[in-house]
Amino acid sequence: MDHDEISWQDVLFEGVEVLITAAVHGVNGLMVQLAGRSGEGVCPSCGRASARVHDRYERQLQDLPLAGHAVRILLSVRRFVCVAPGCSQRTFAEQIPGLTSPYARCTDRLGELLDRVALALAGRAGSRMATALGLTAA
Ligand SMILES: [Zn+2]
Repeated sequence: MDHDEISWQDVLFEGVEVLITAAVHGVNGLMVQLAGRSGEGVCPSCGRASARVHDRYERQLQDLPLAGHAVRILLSVRRFVCVAPGCSQRTFAEQIPGLTSPYARCTDRLGELLDRVALALAGRAGSRMATALGLTAA
């Protein structure tokens, strides 16, 4: 039987423009450090792309559990300068399509799954099911 070497990058973040910079396992589960791979961000106000980085900060996101382990993402976020003349947005934080939404504390895919559980099983039943599946939103 032939086996192909797997790429954790492709398994965990297929189609998402991020790079795994580190992954560690601790008492609270897995911590995966990520950085955006795109060379530029898109201003949410004017839609113009910018590659001019103003600064960086770290953002923590809860992700889907992996093999029973809680997964936290430590994302290195770039804050770009909007270079469009007349745009009211001086700087903006990069969003990773398919992974992040503004101000969210969990990944898009975890948020979508929690929404589905909440719609199917509202209230305490939904909460118990989410806990049983290892789904938590910090
Ligand atoms: Zn702008």
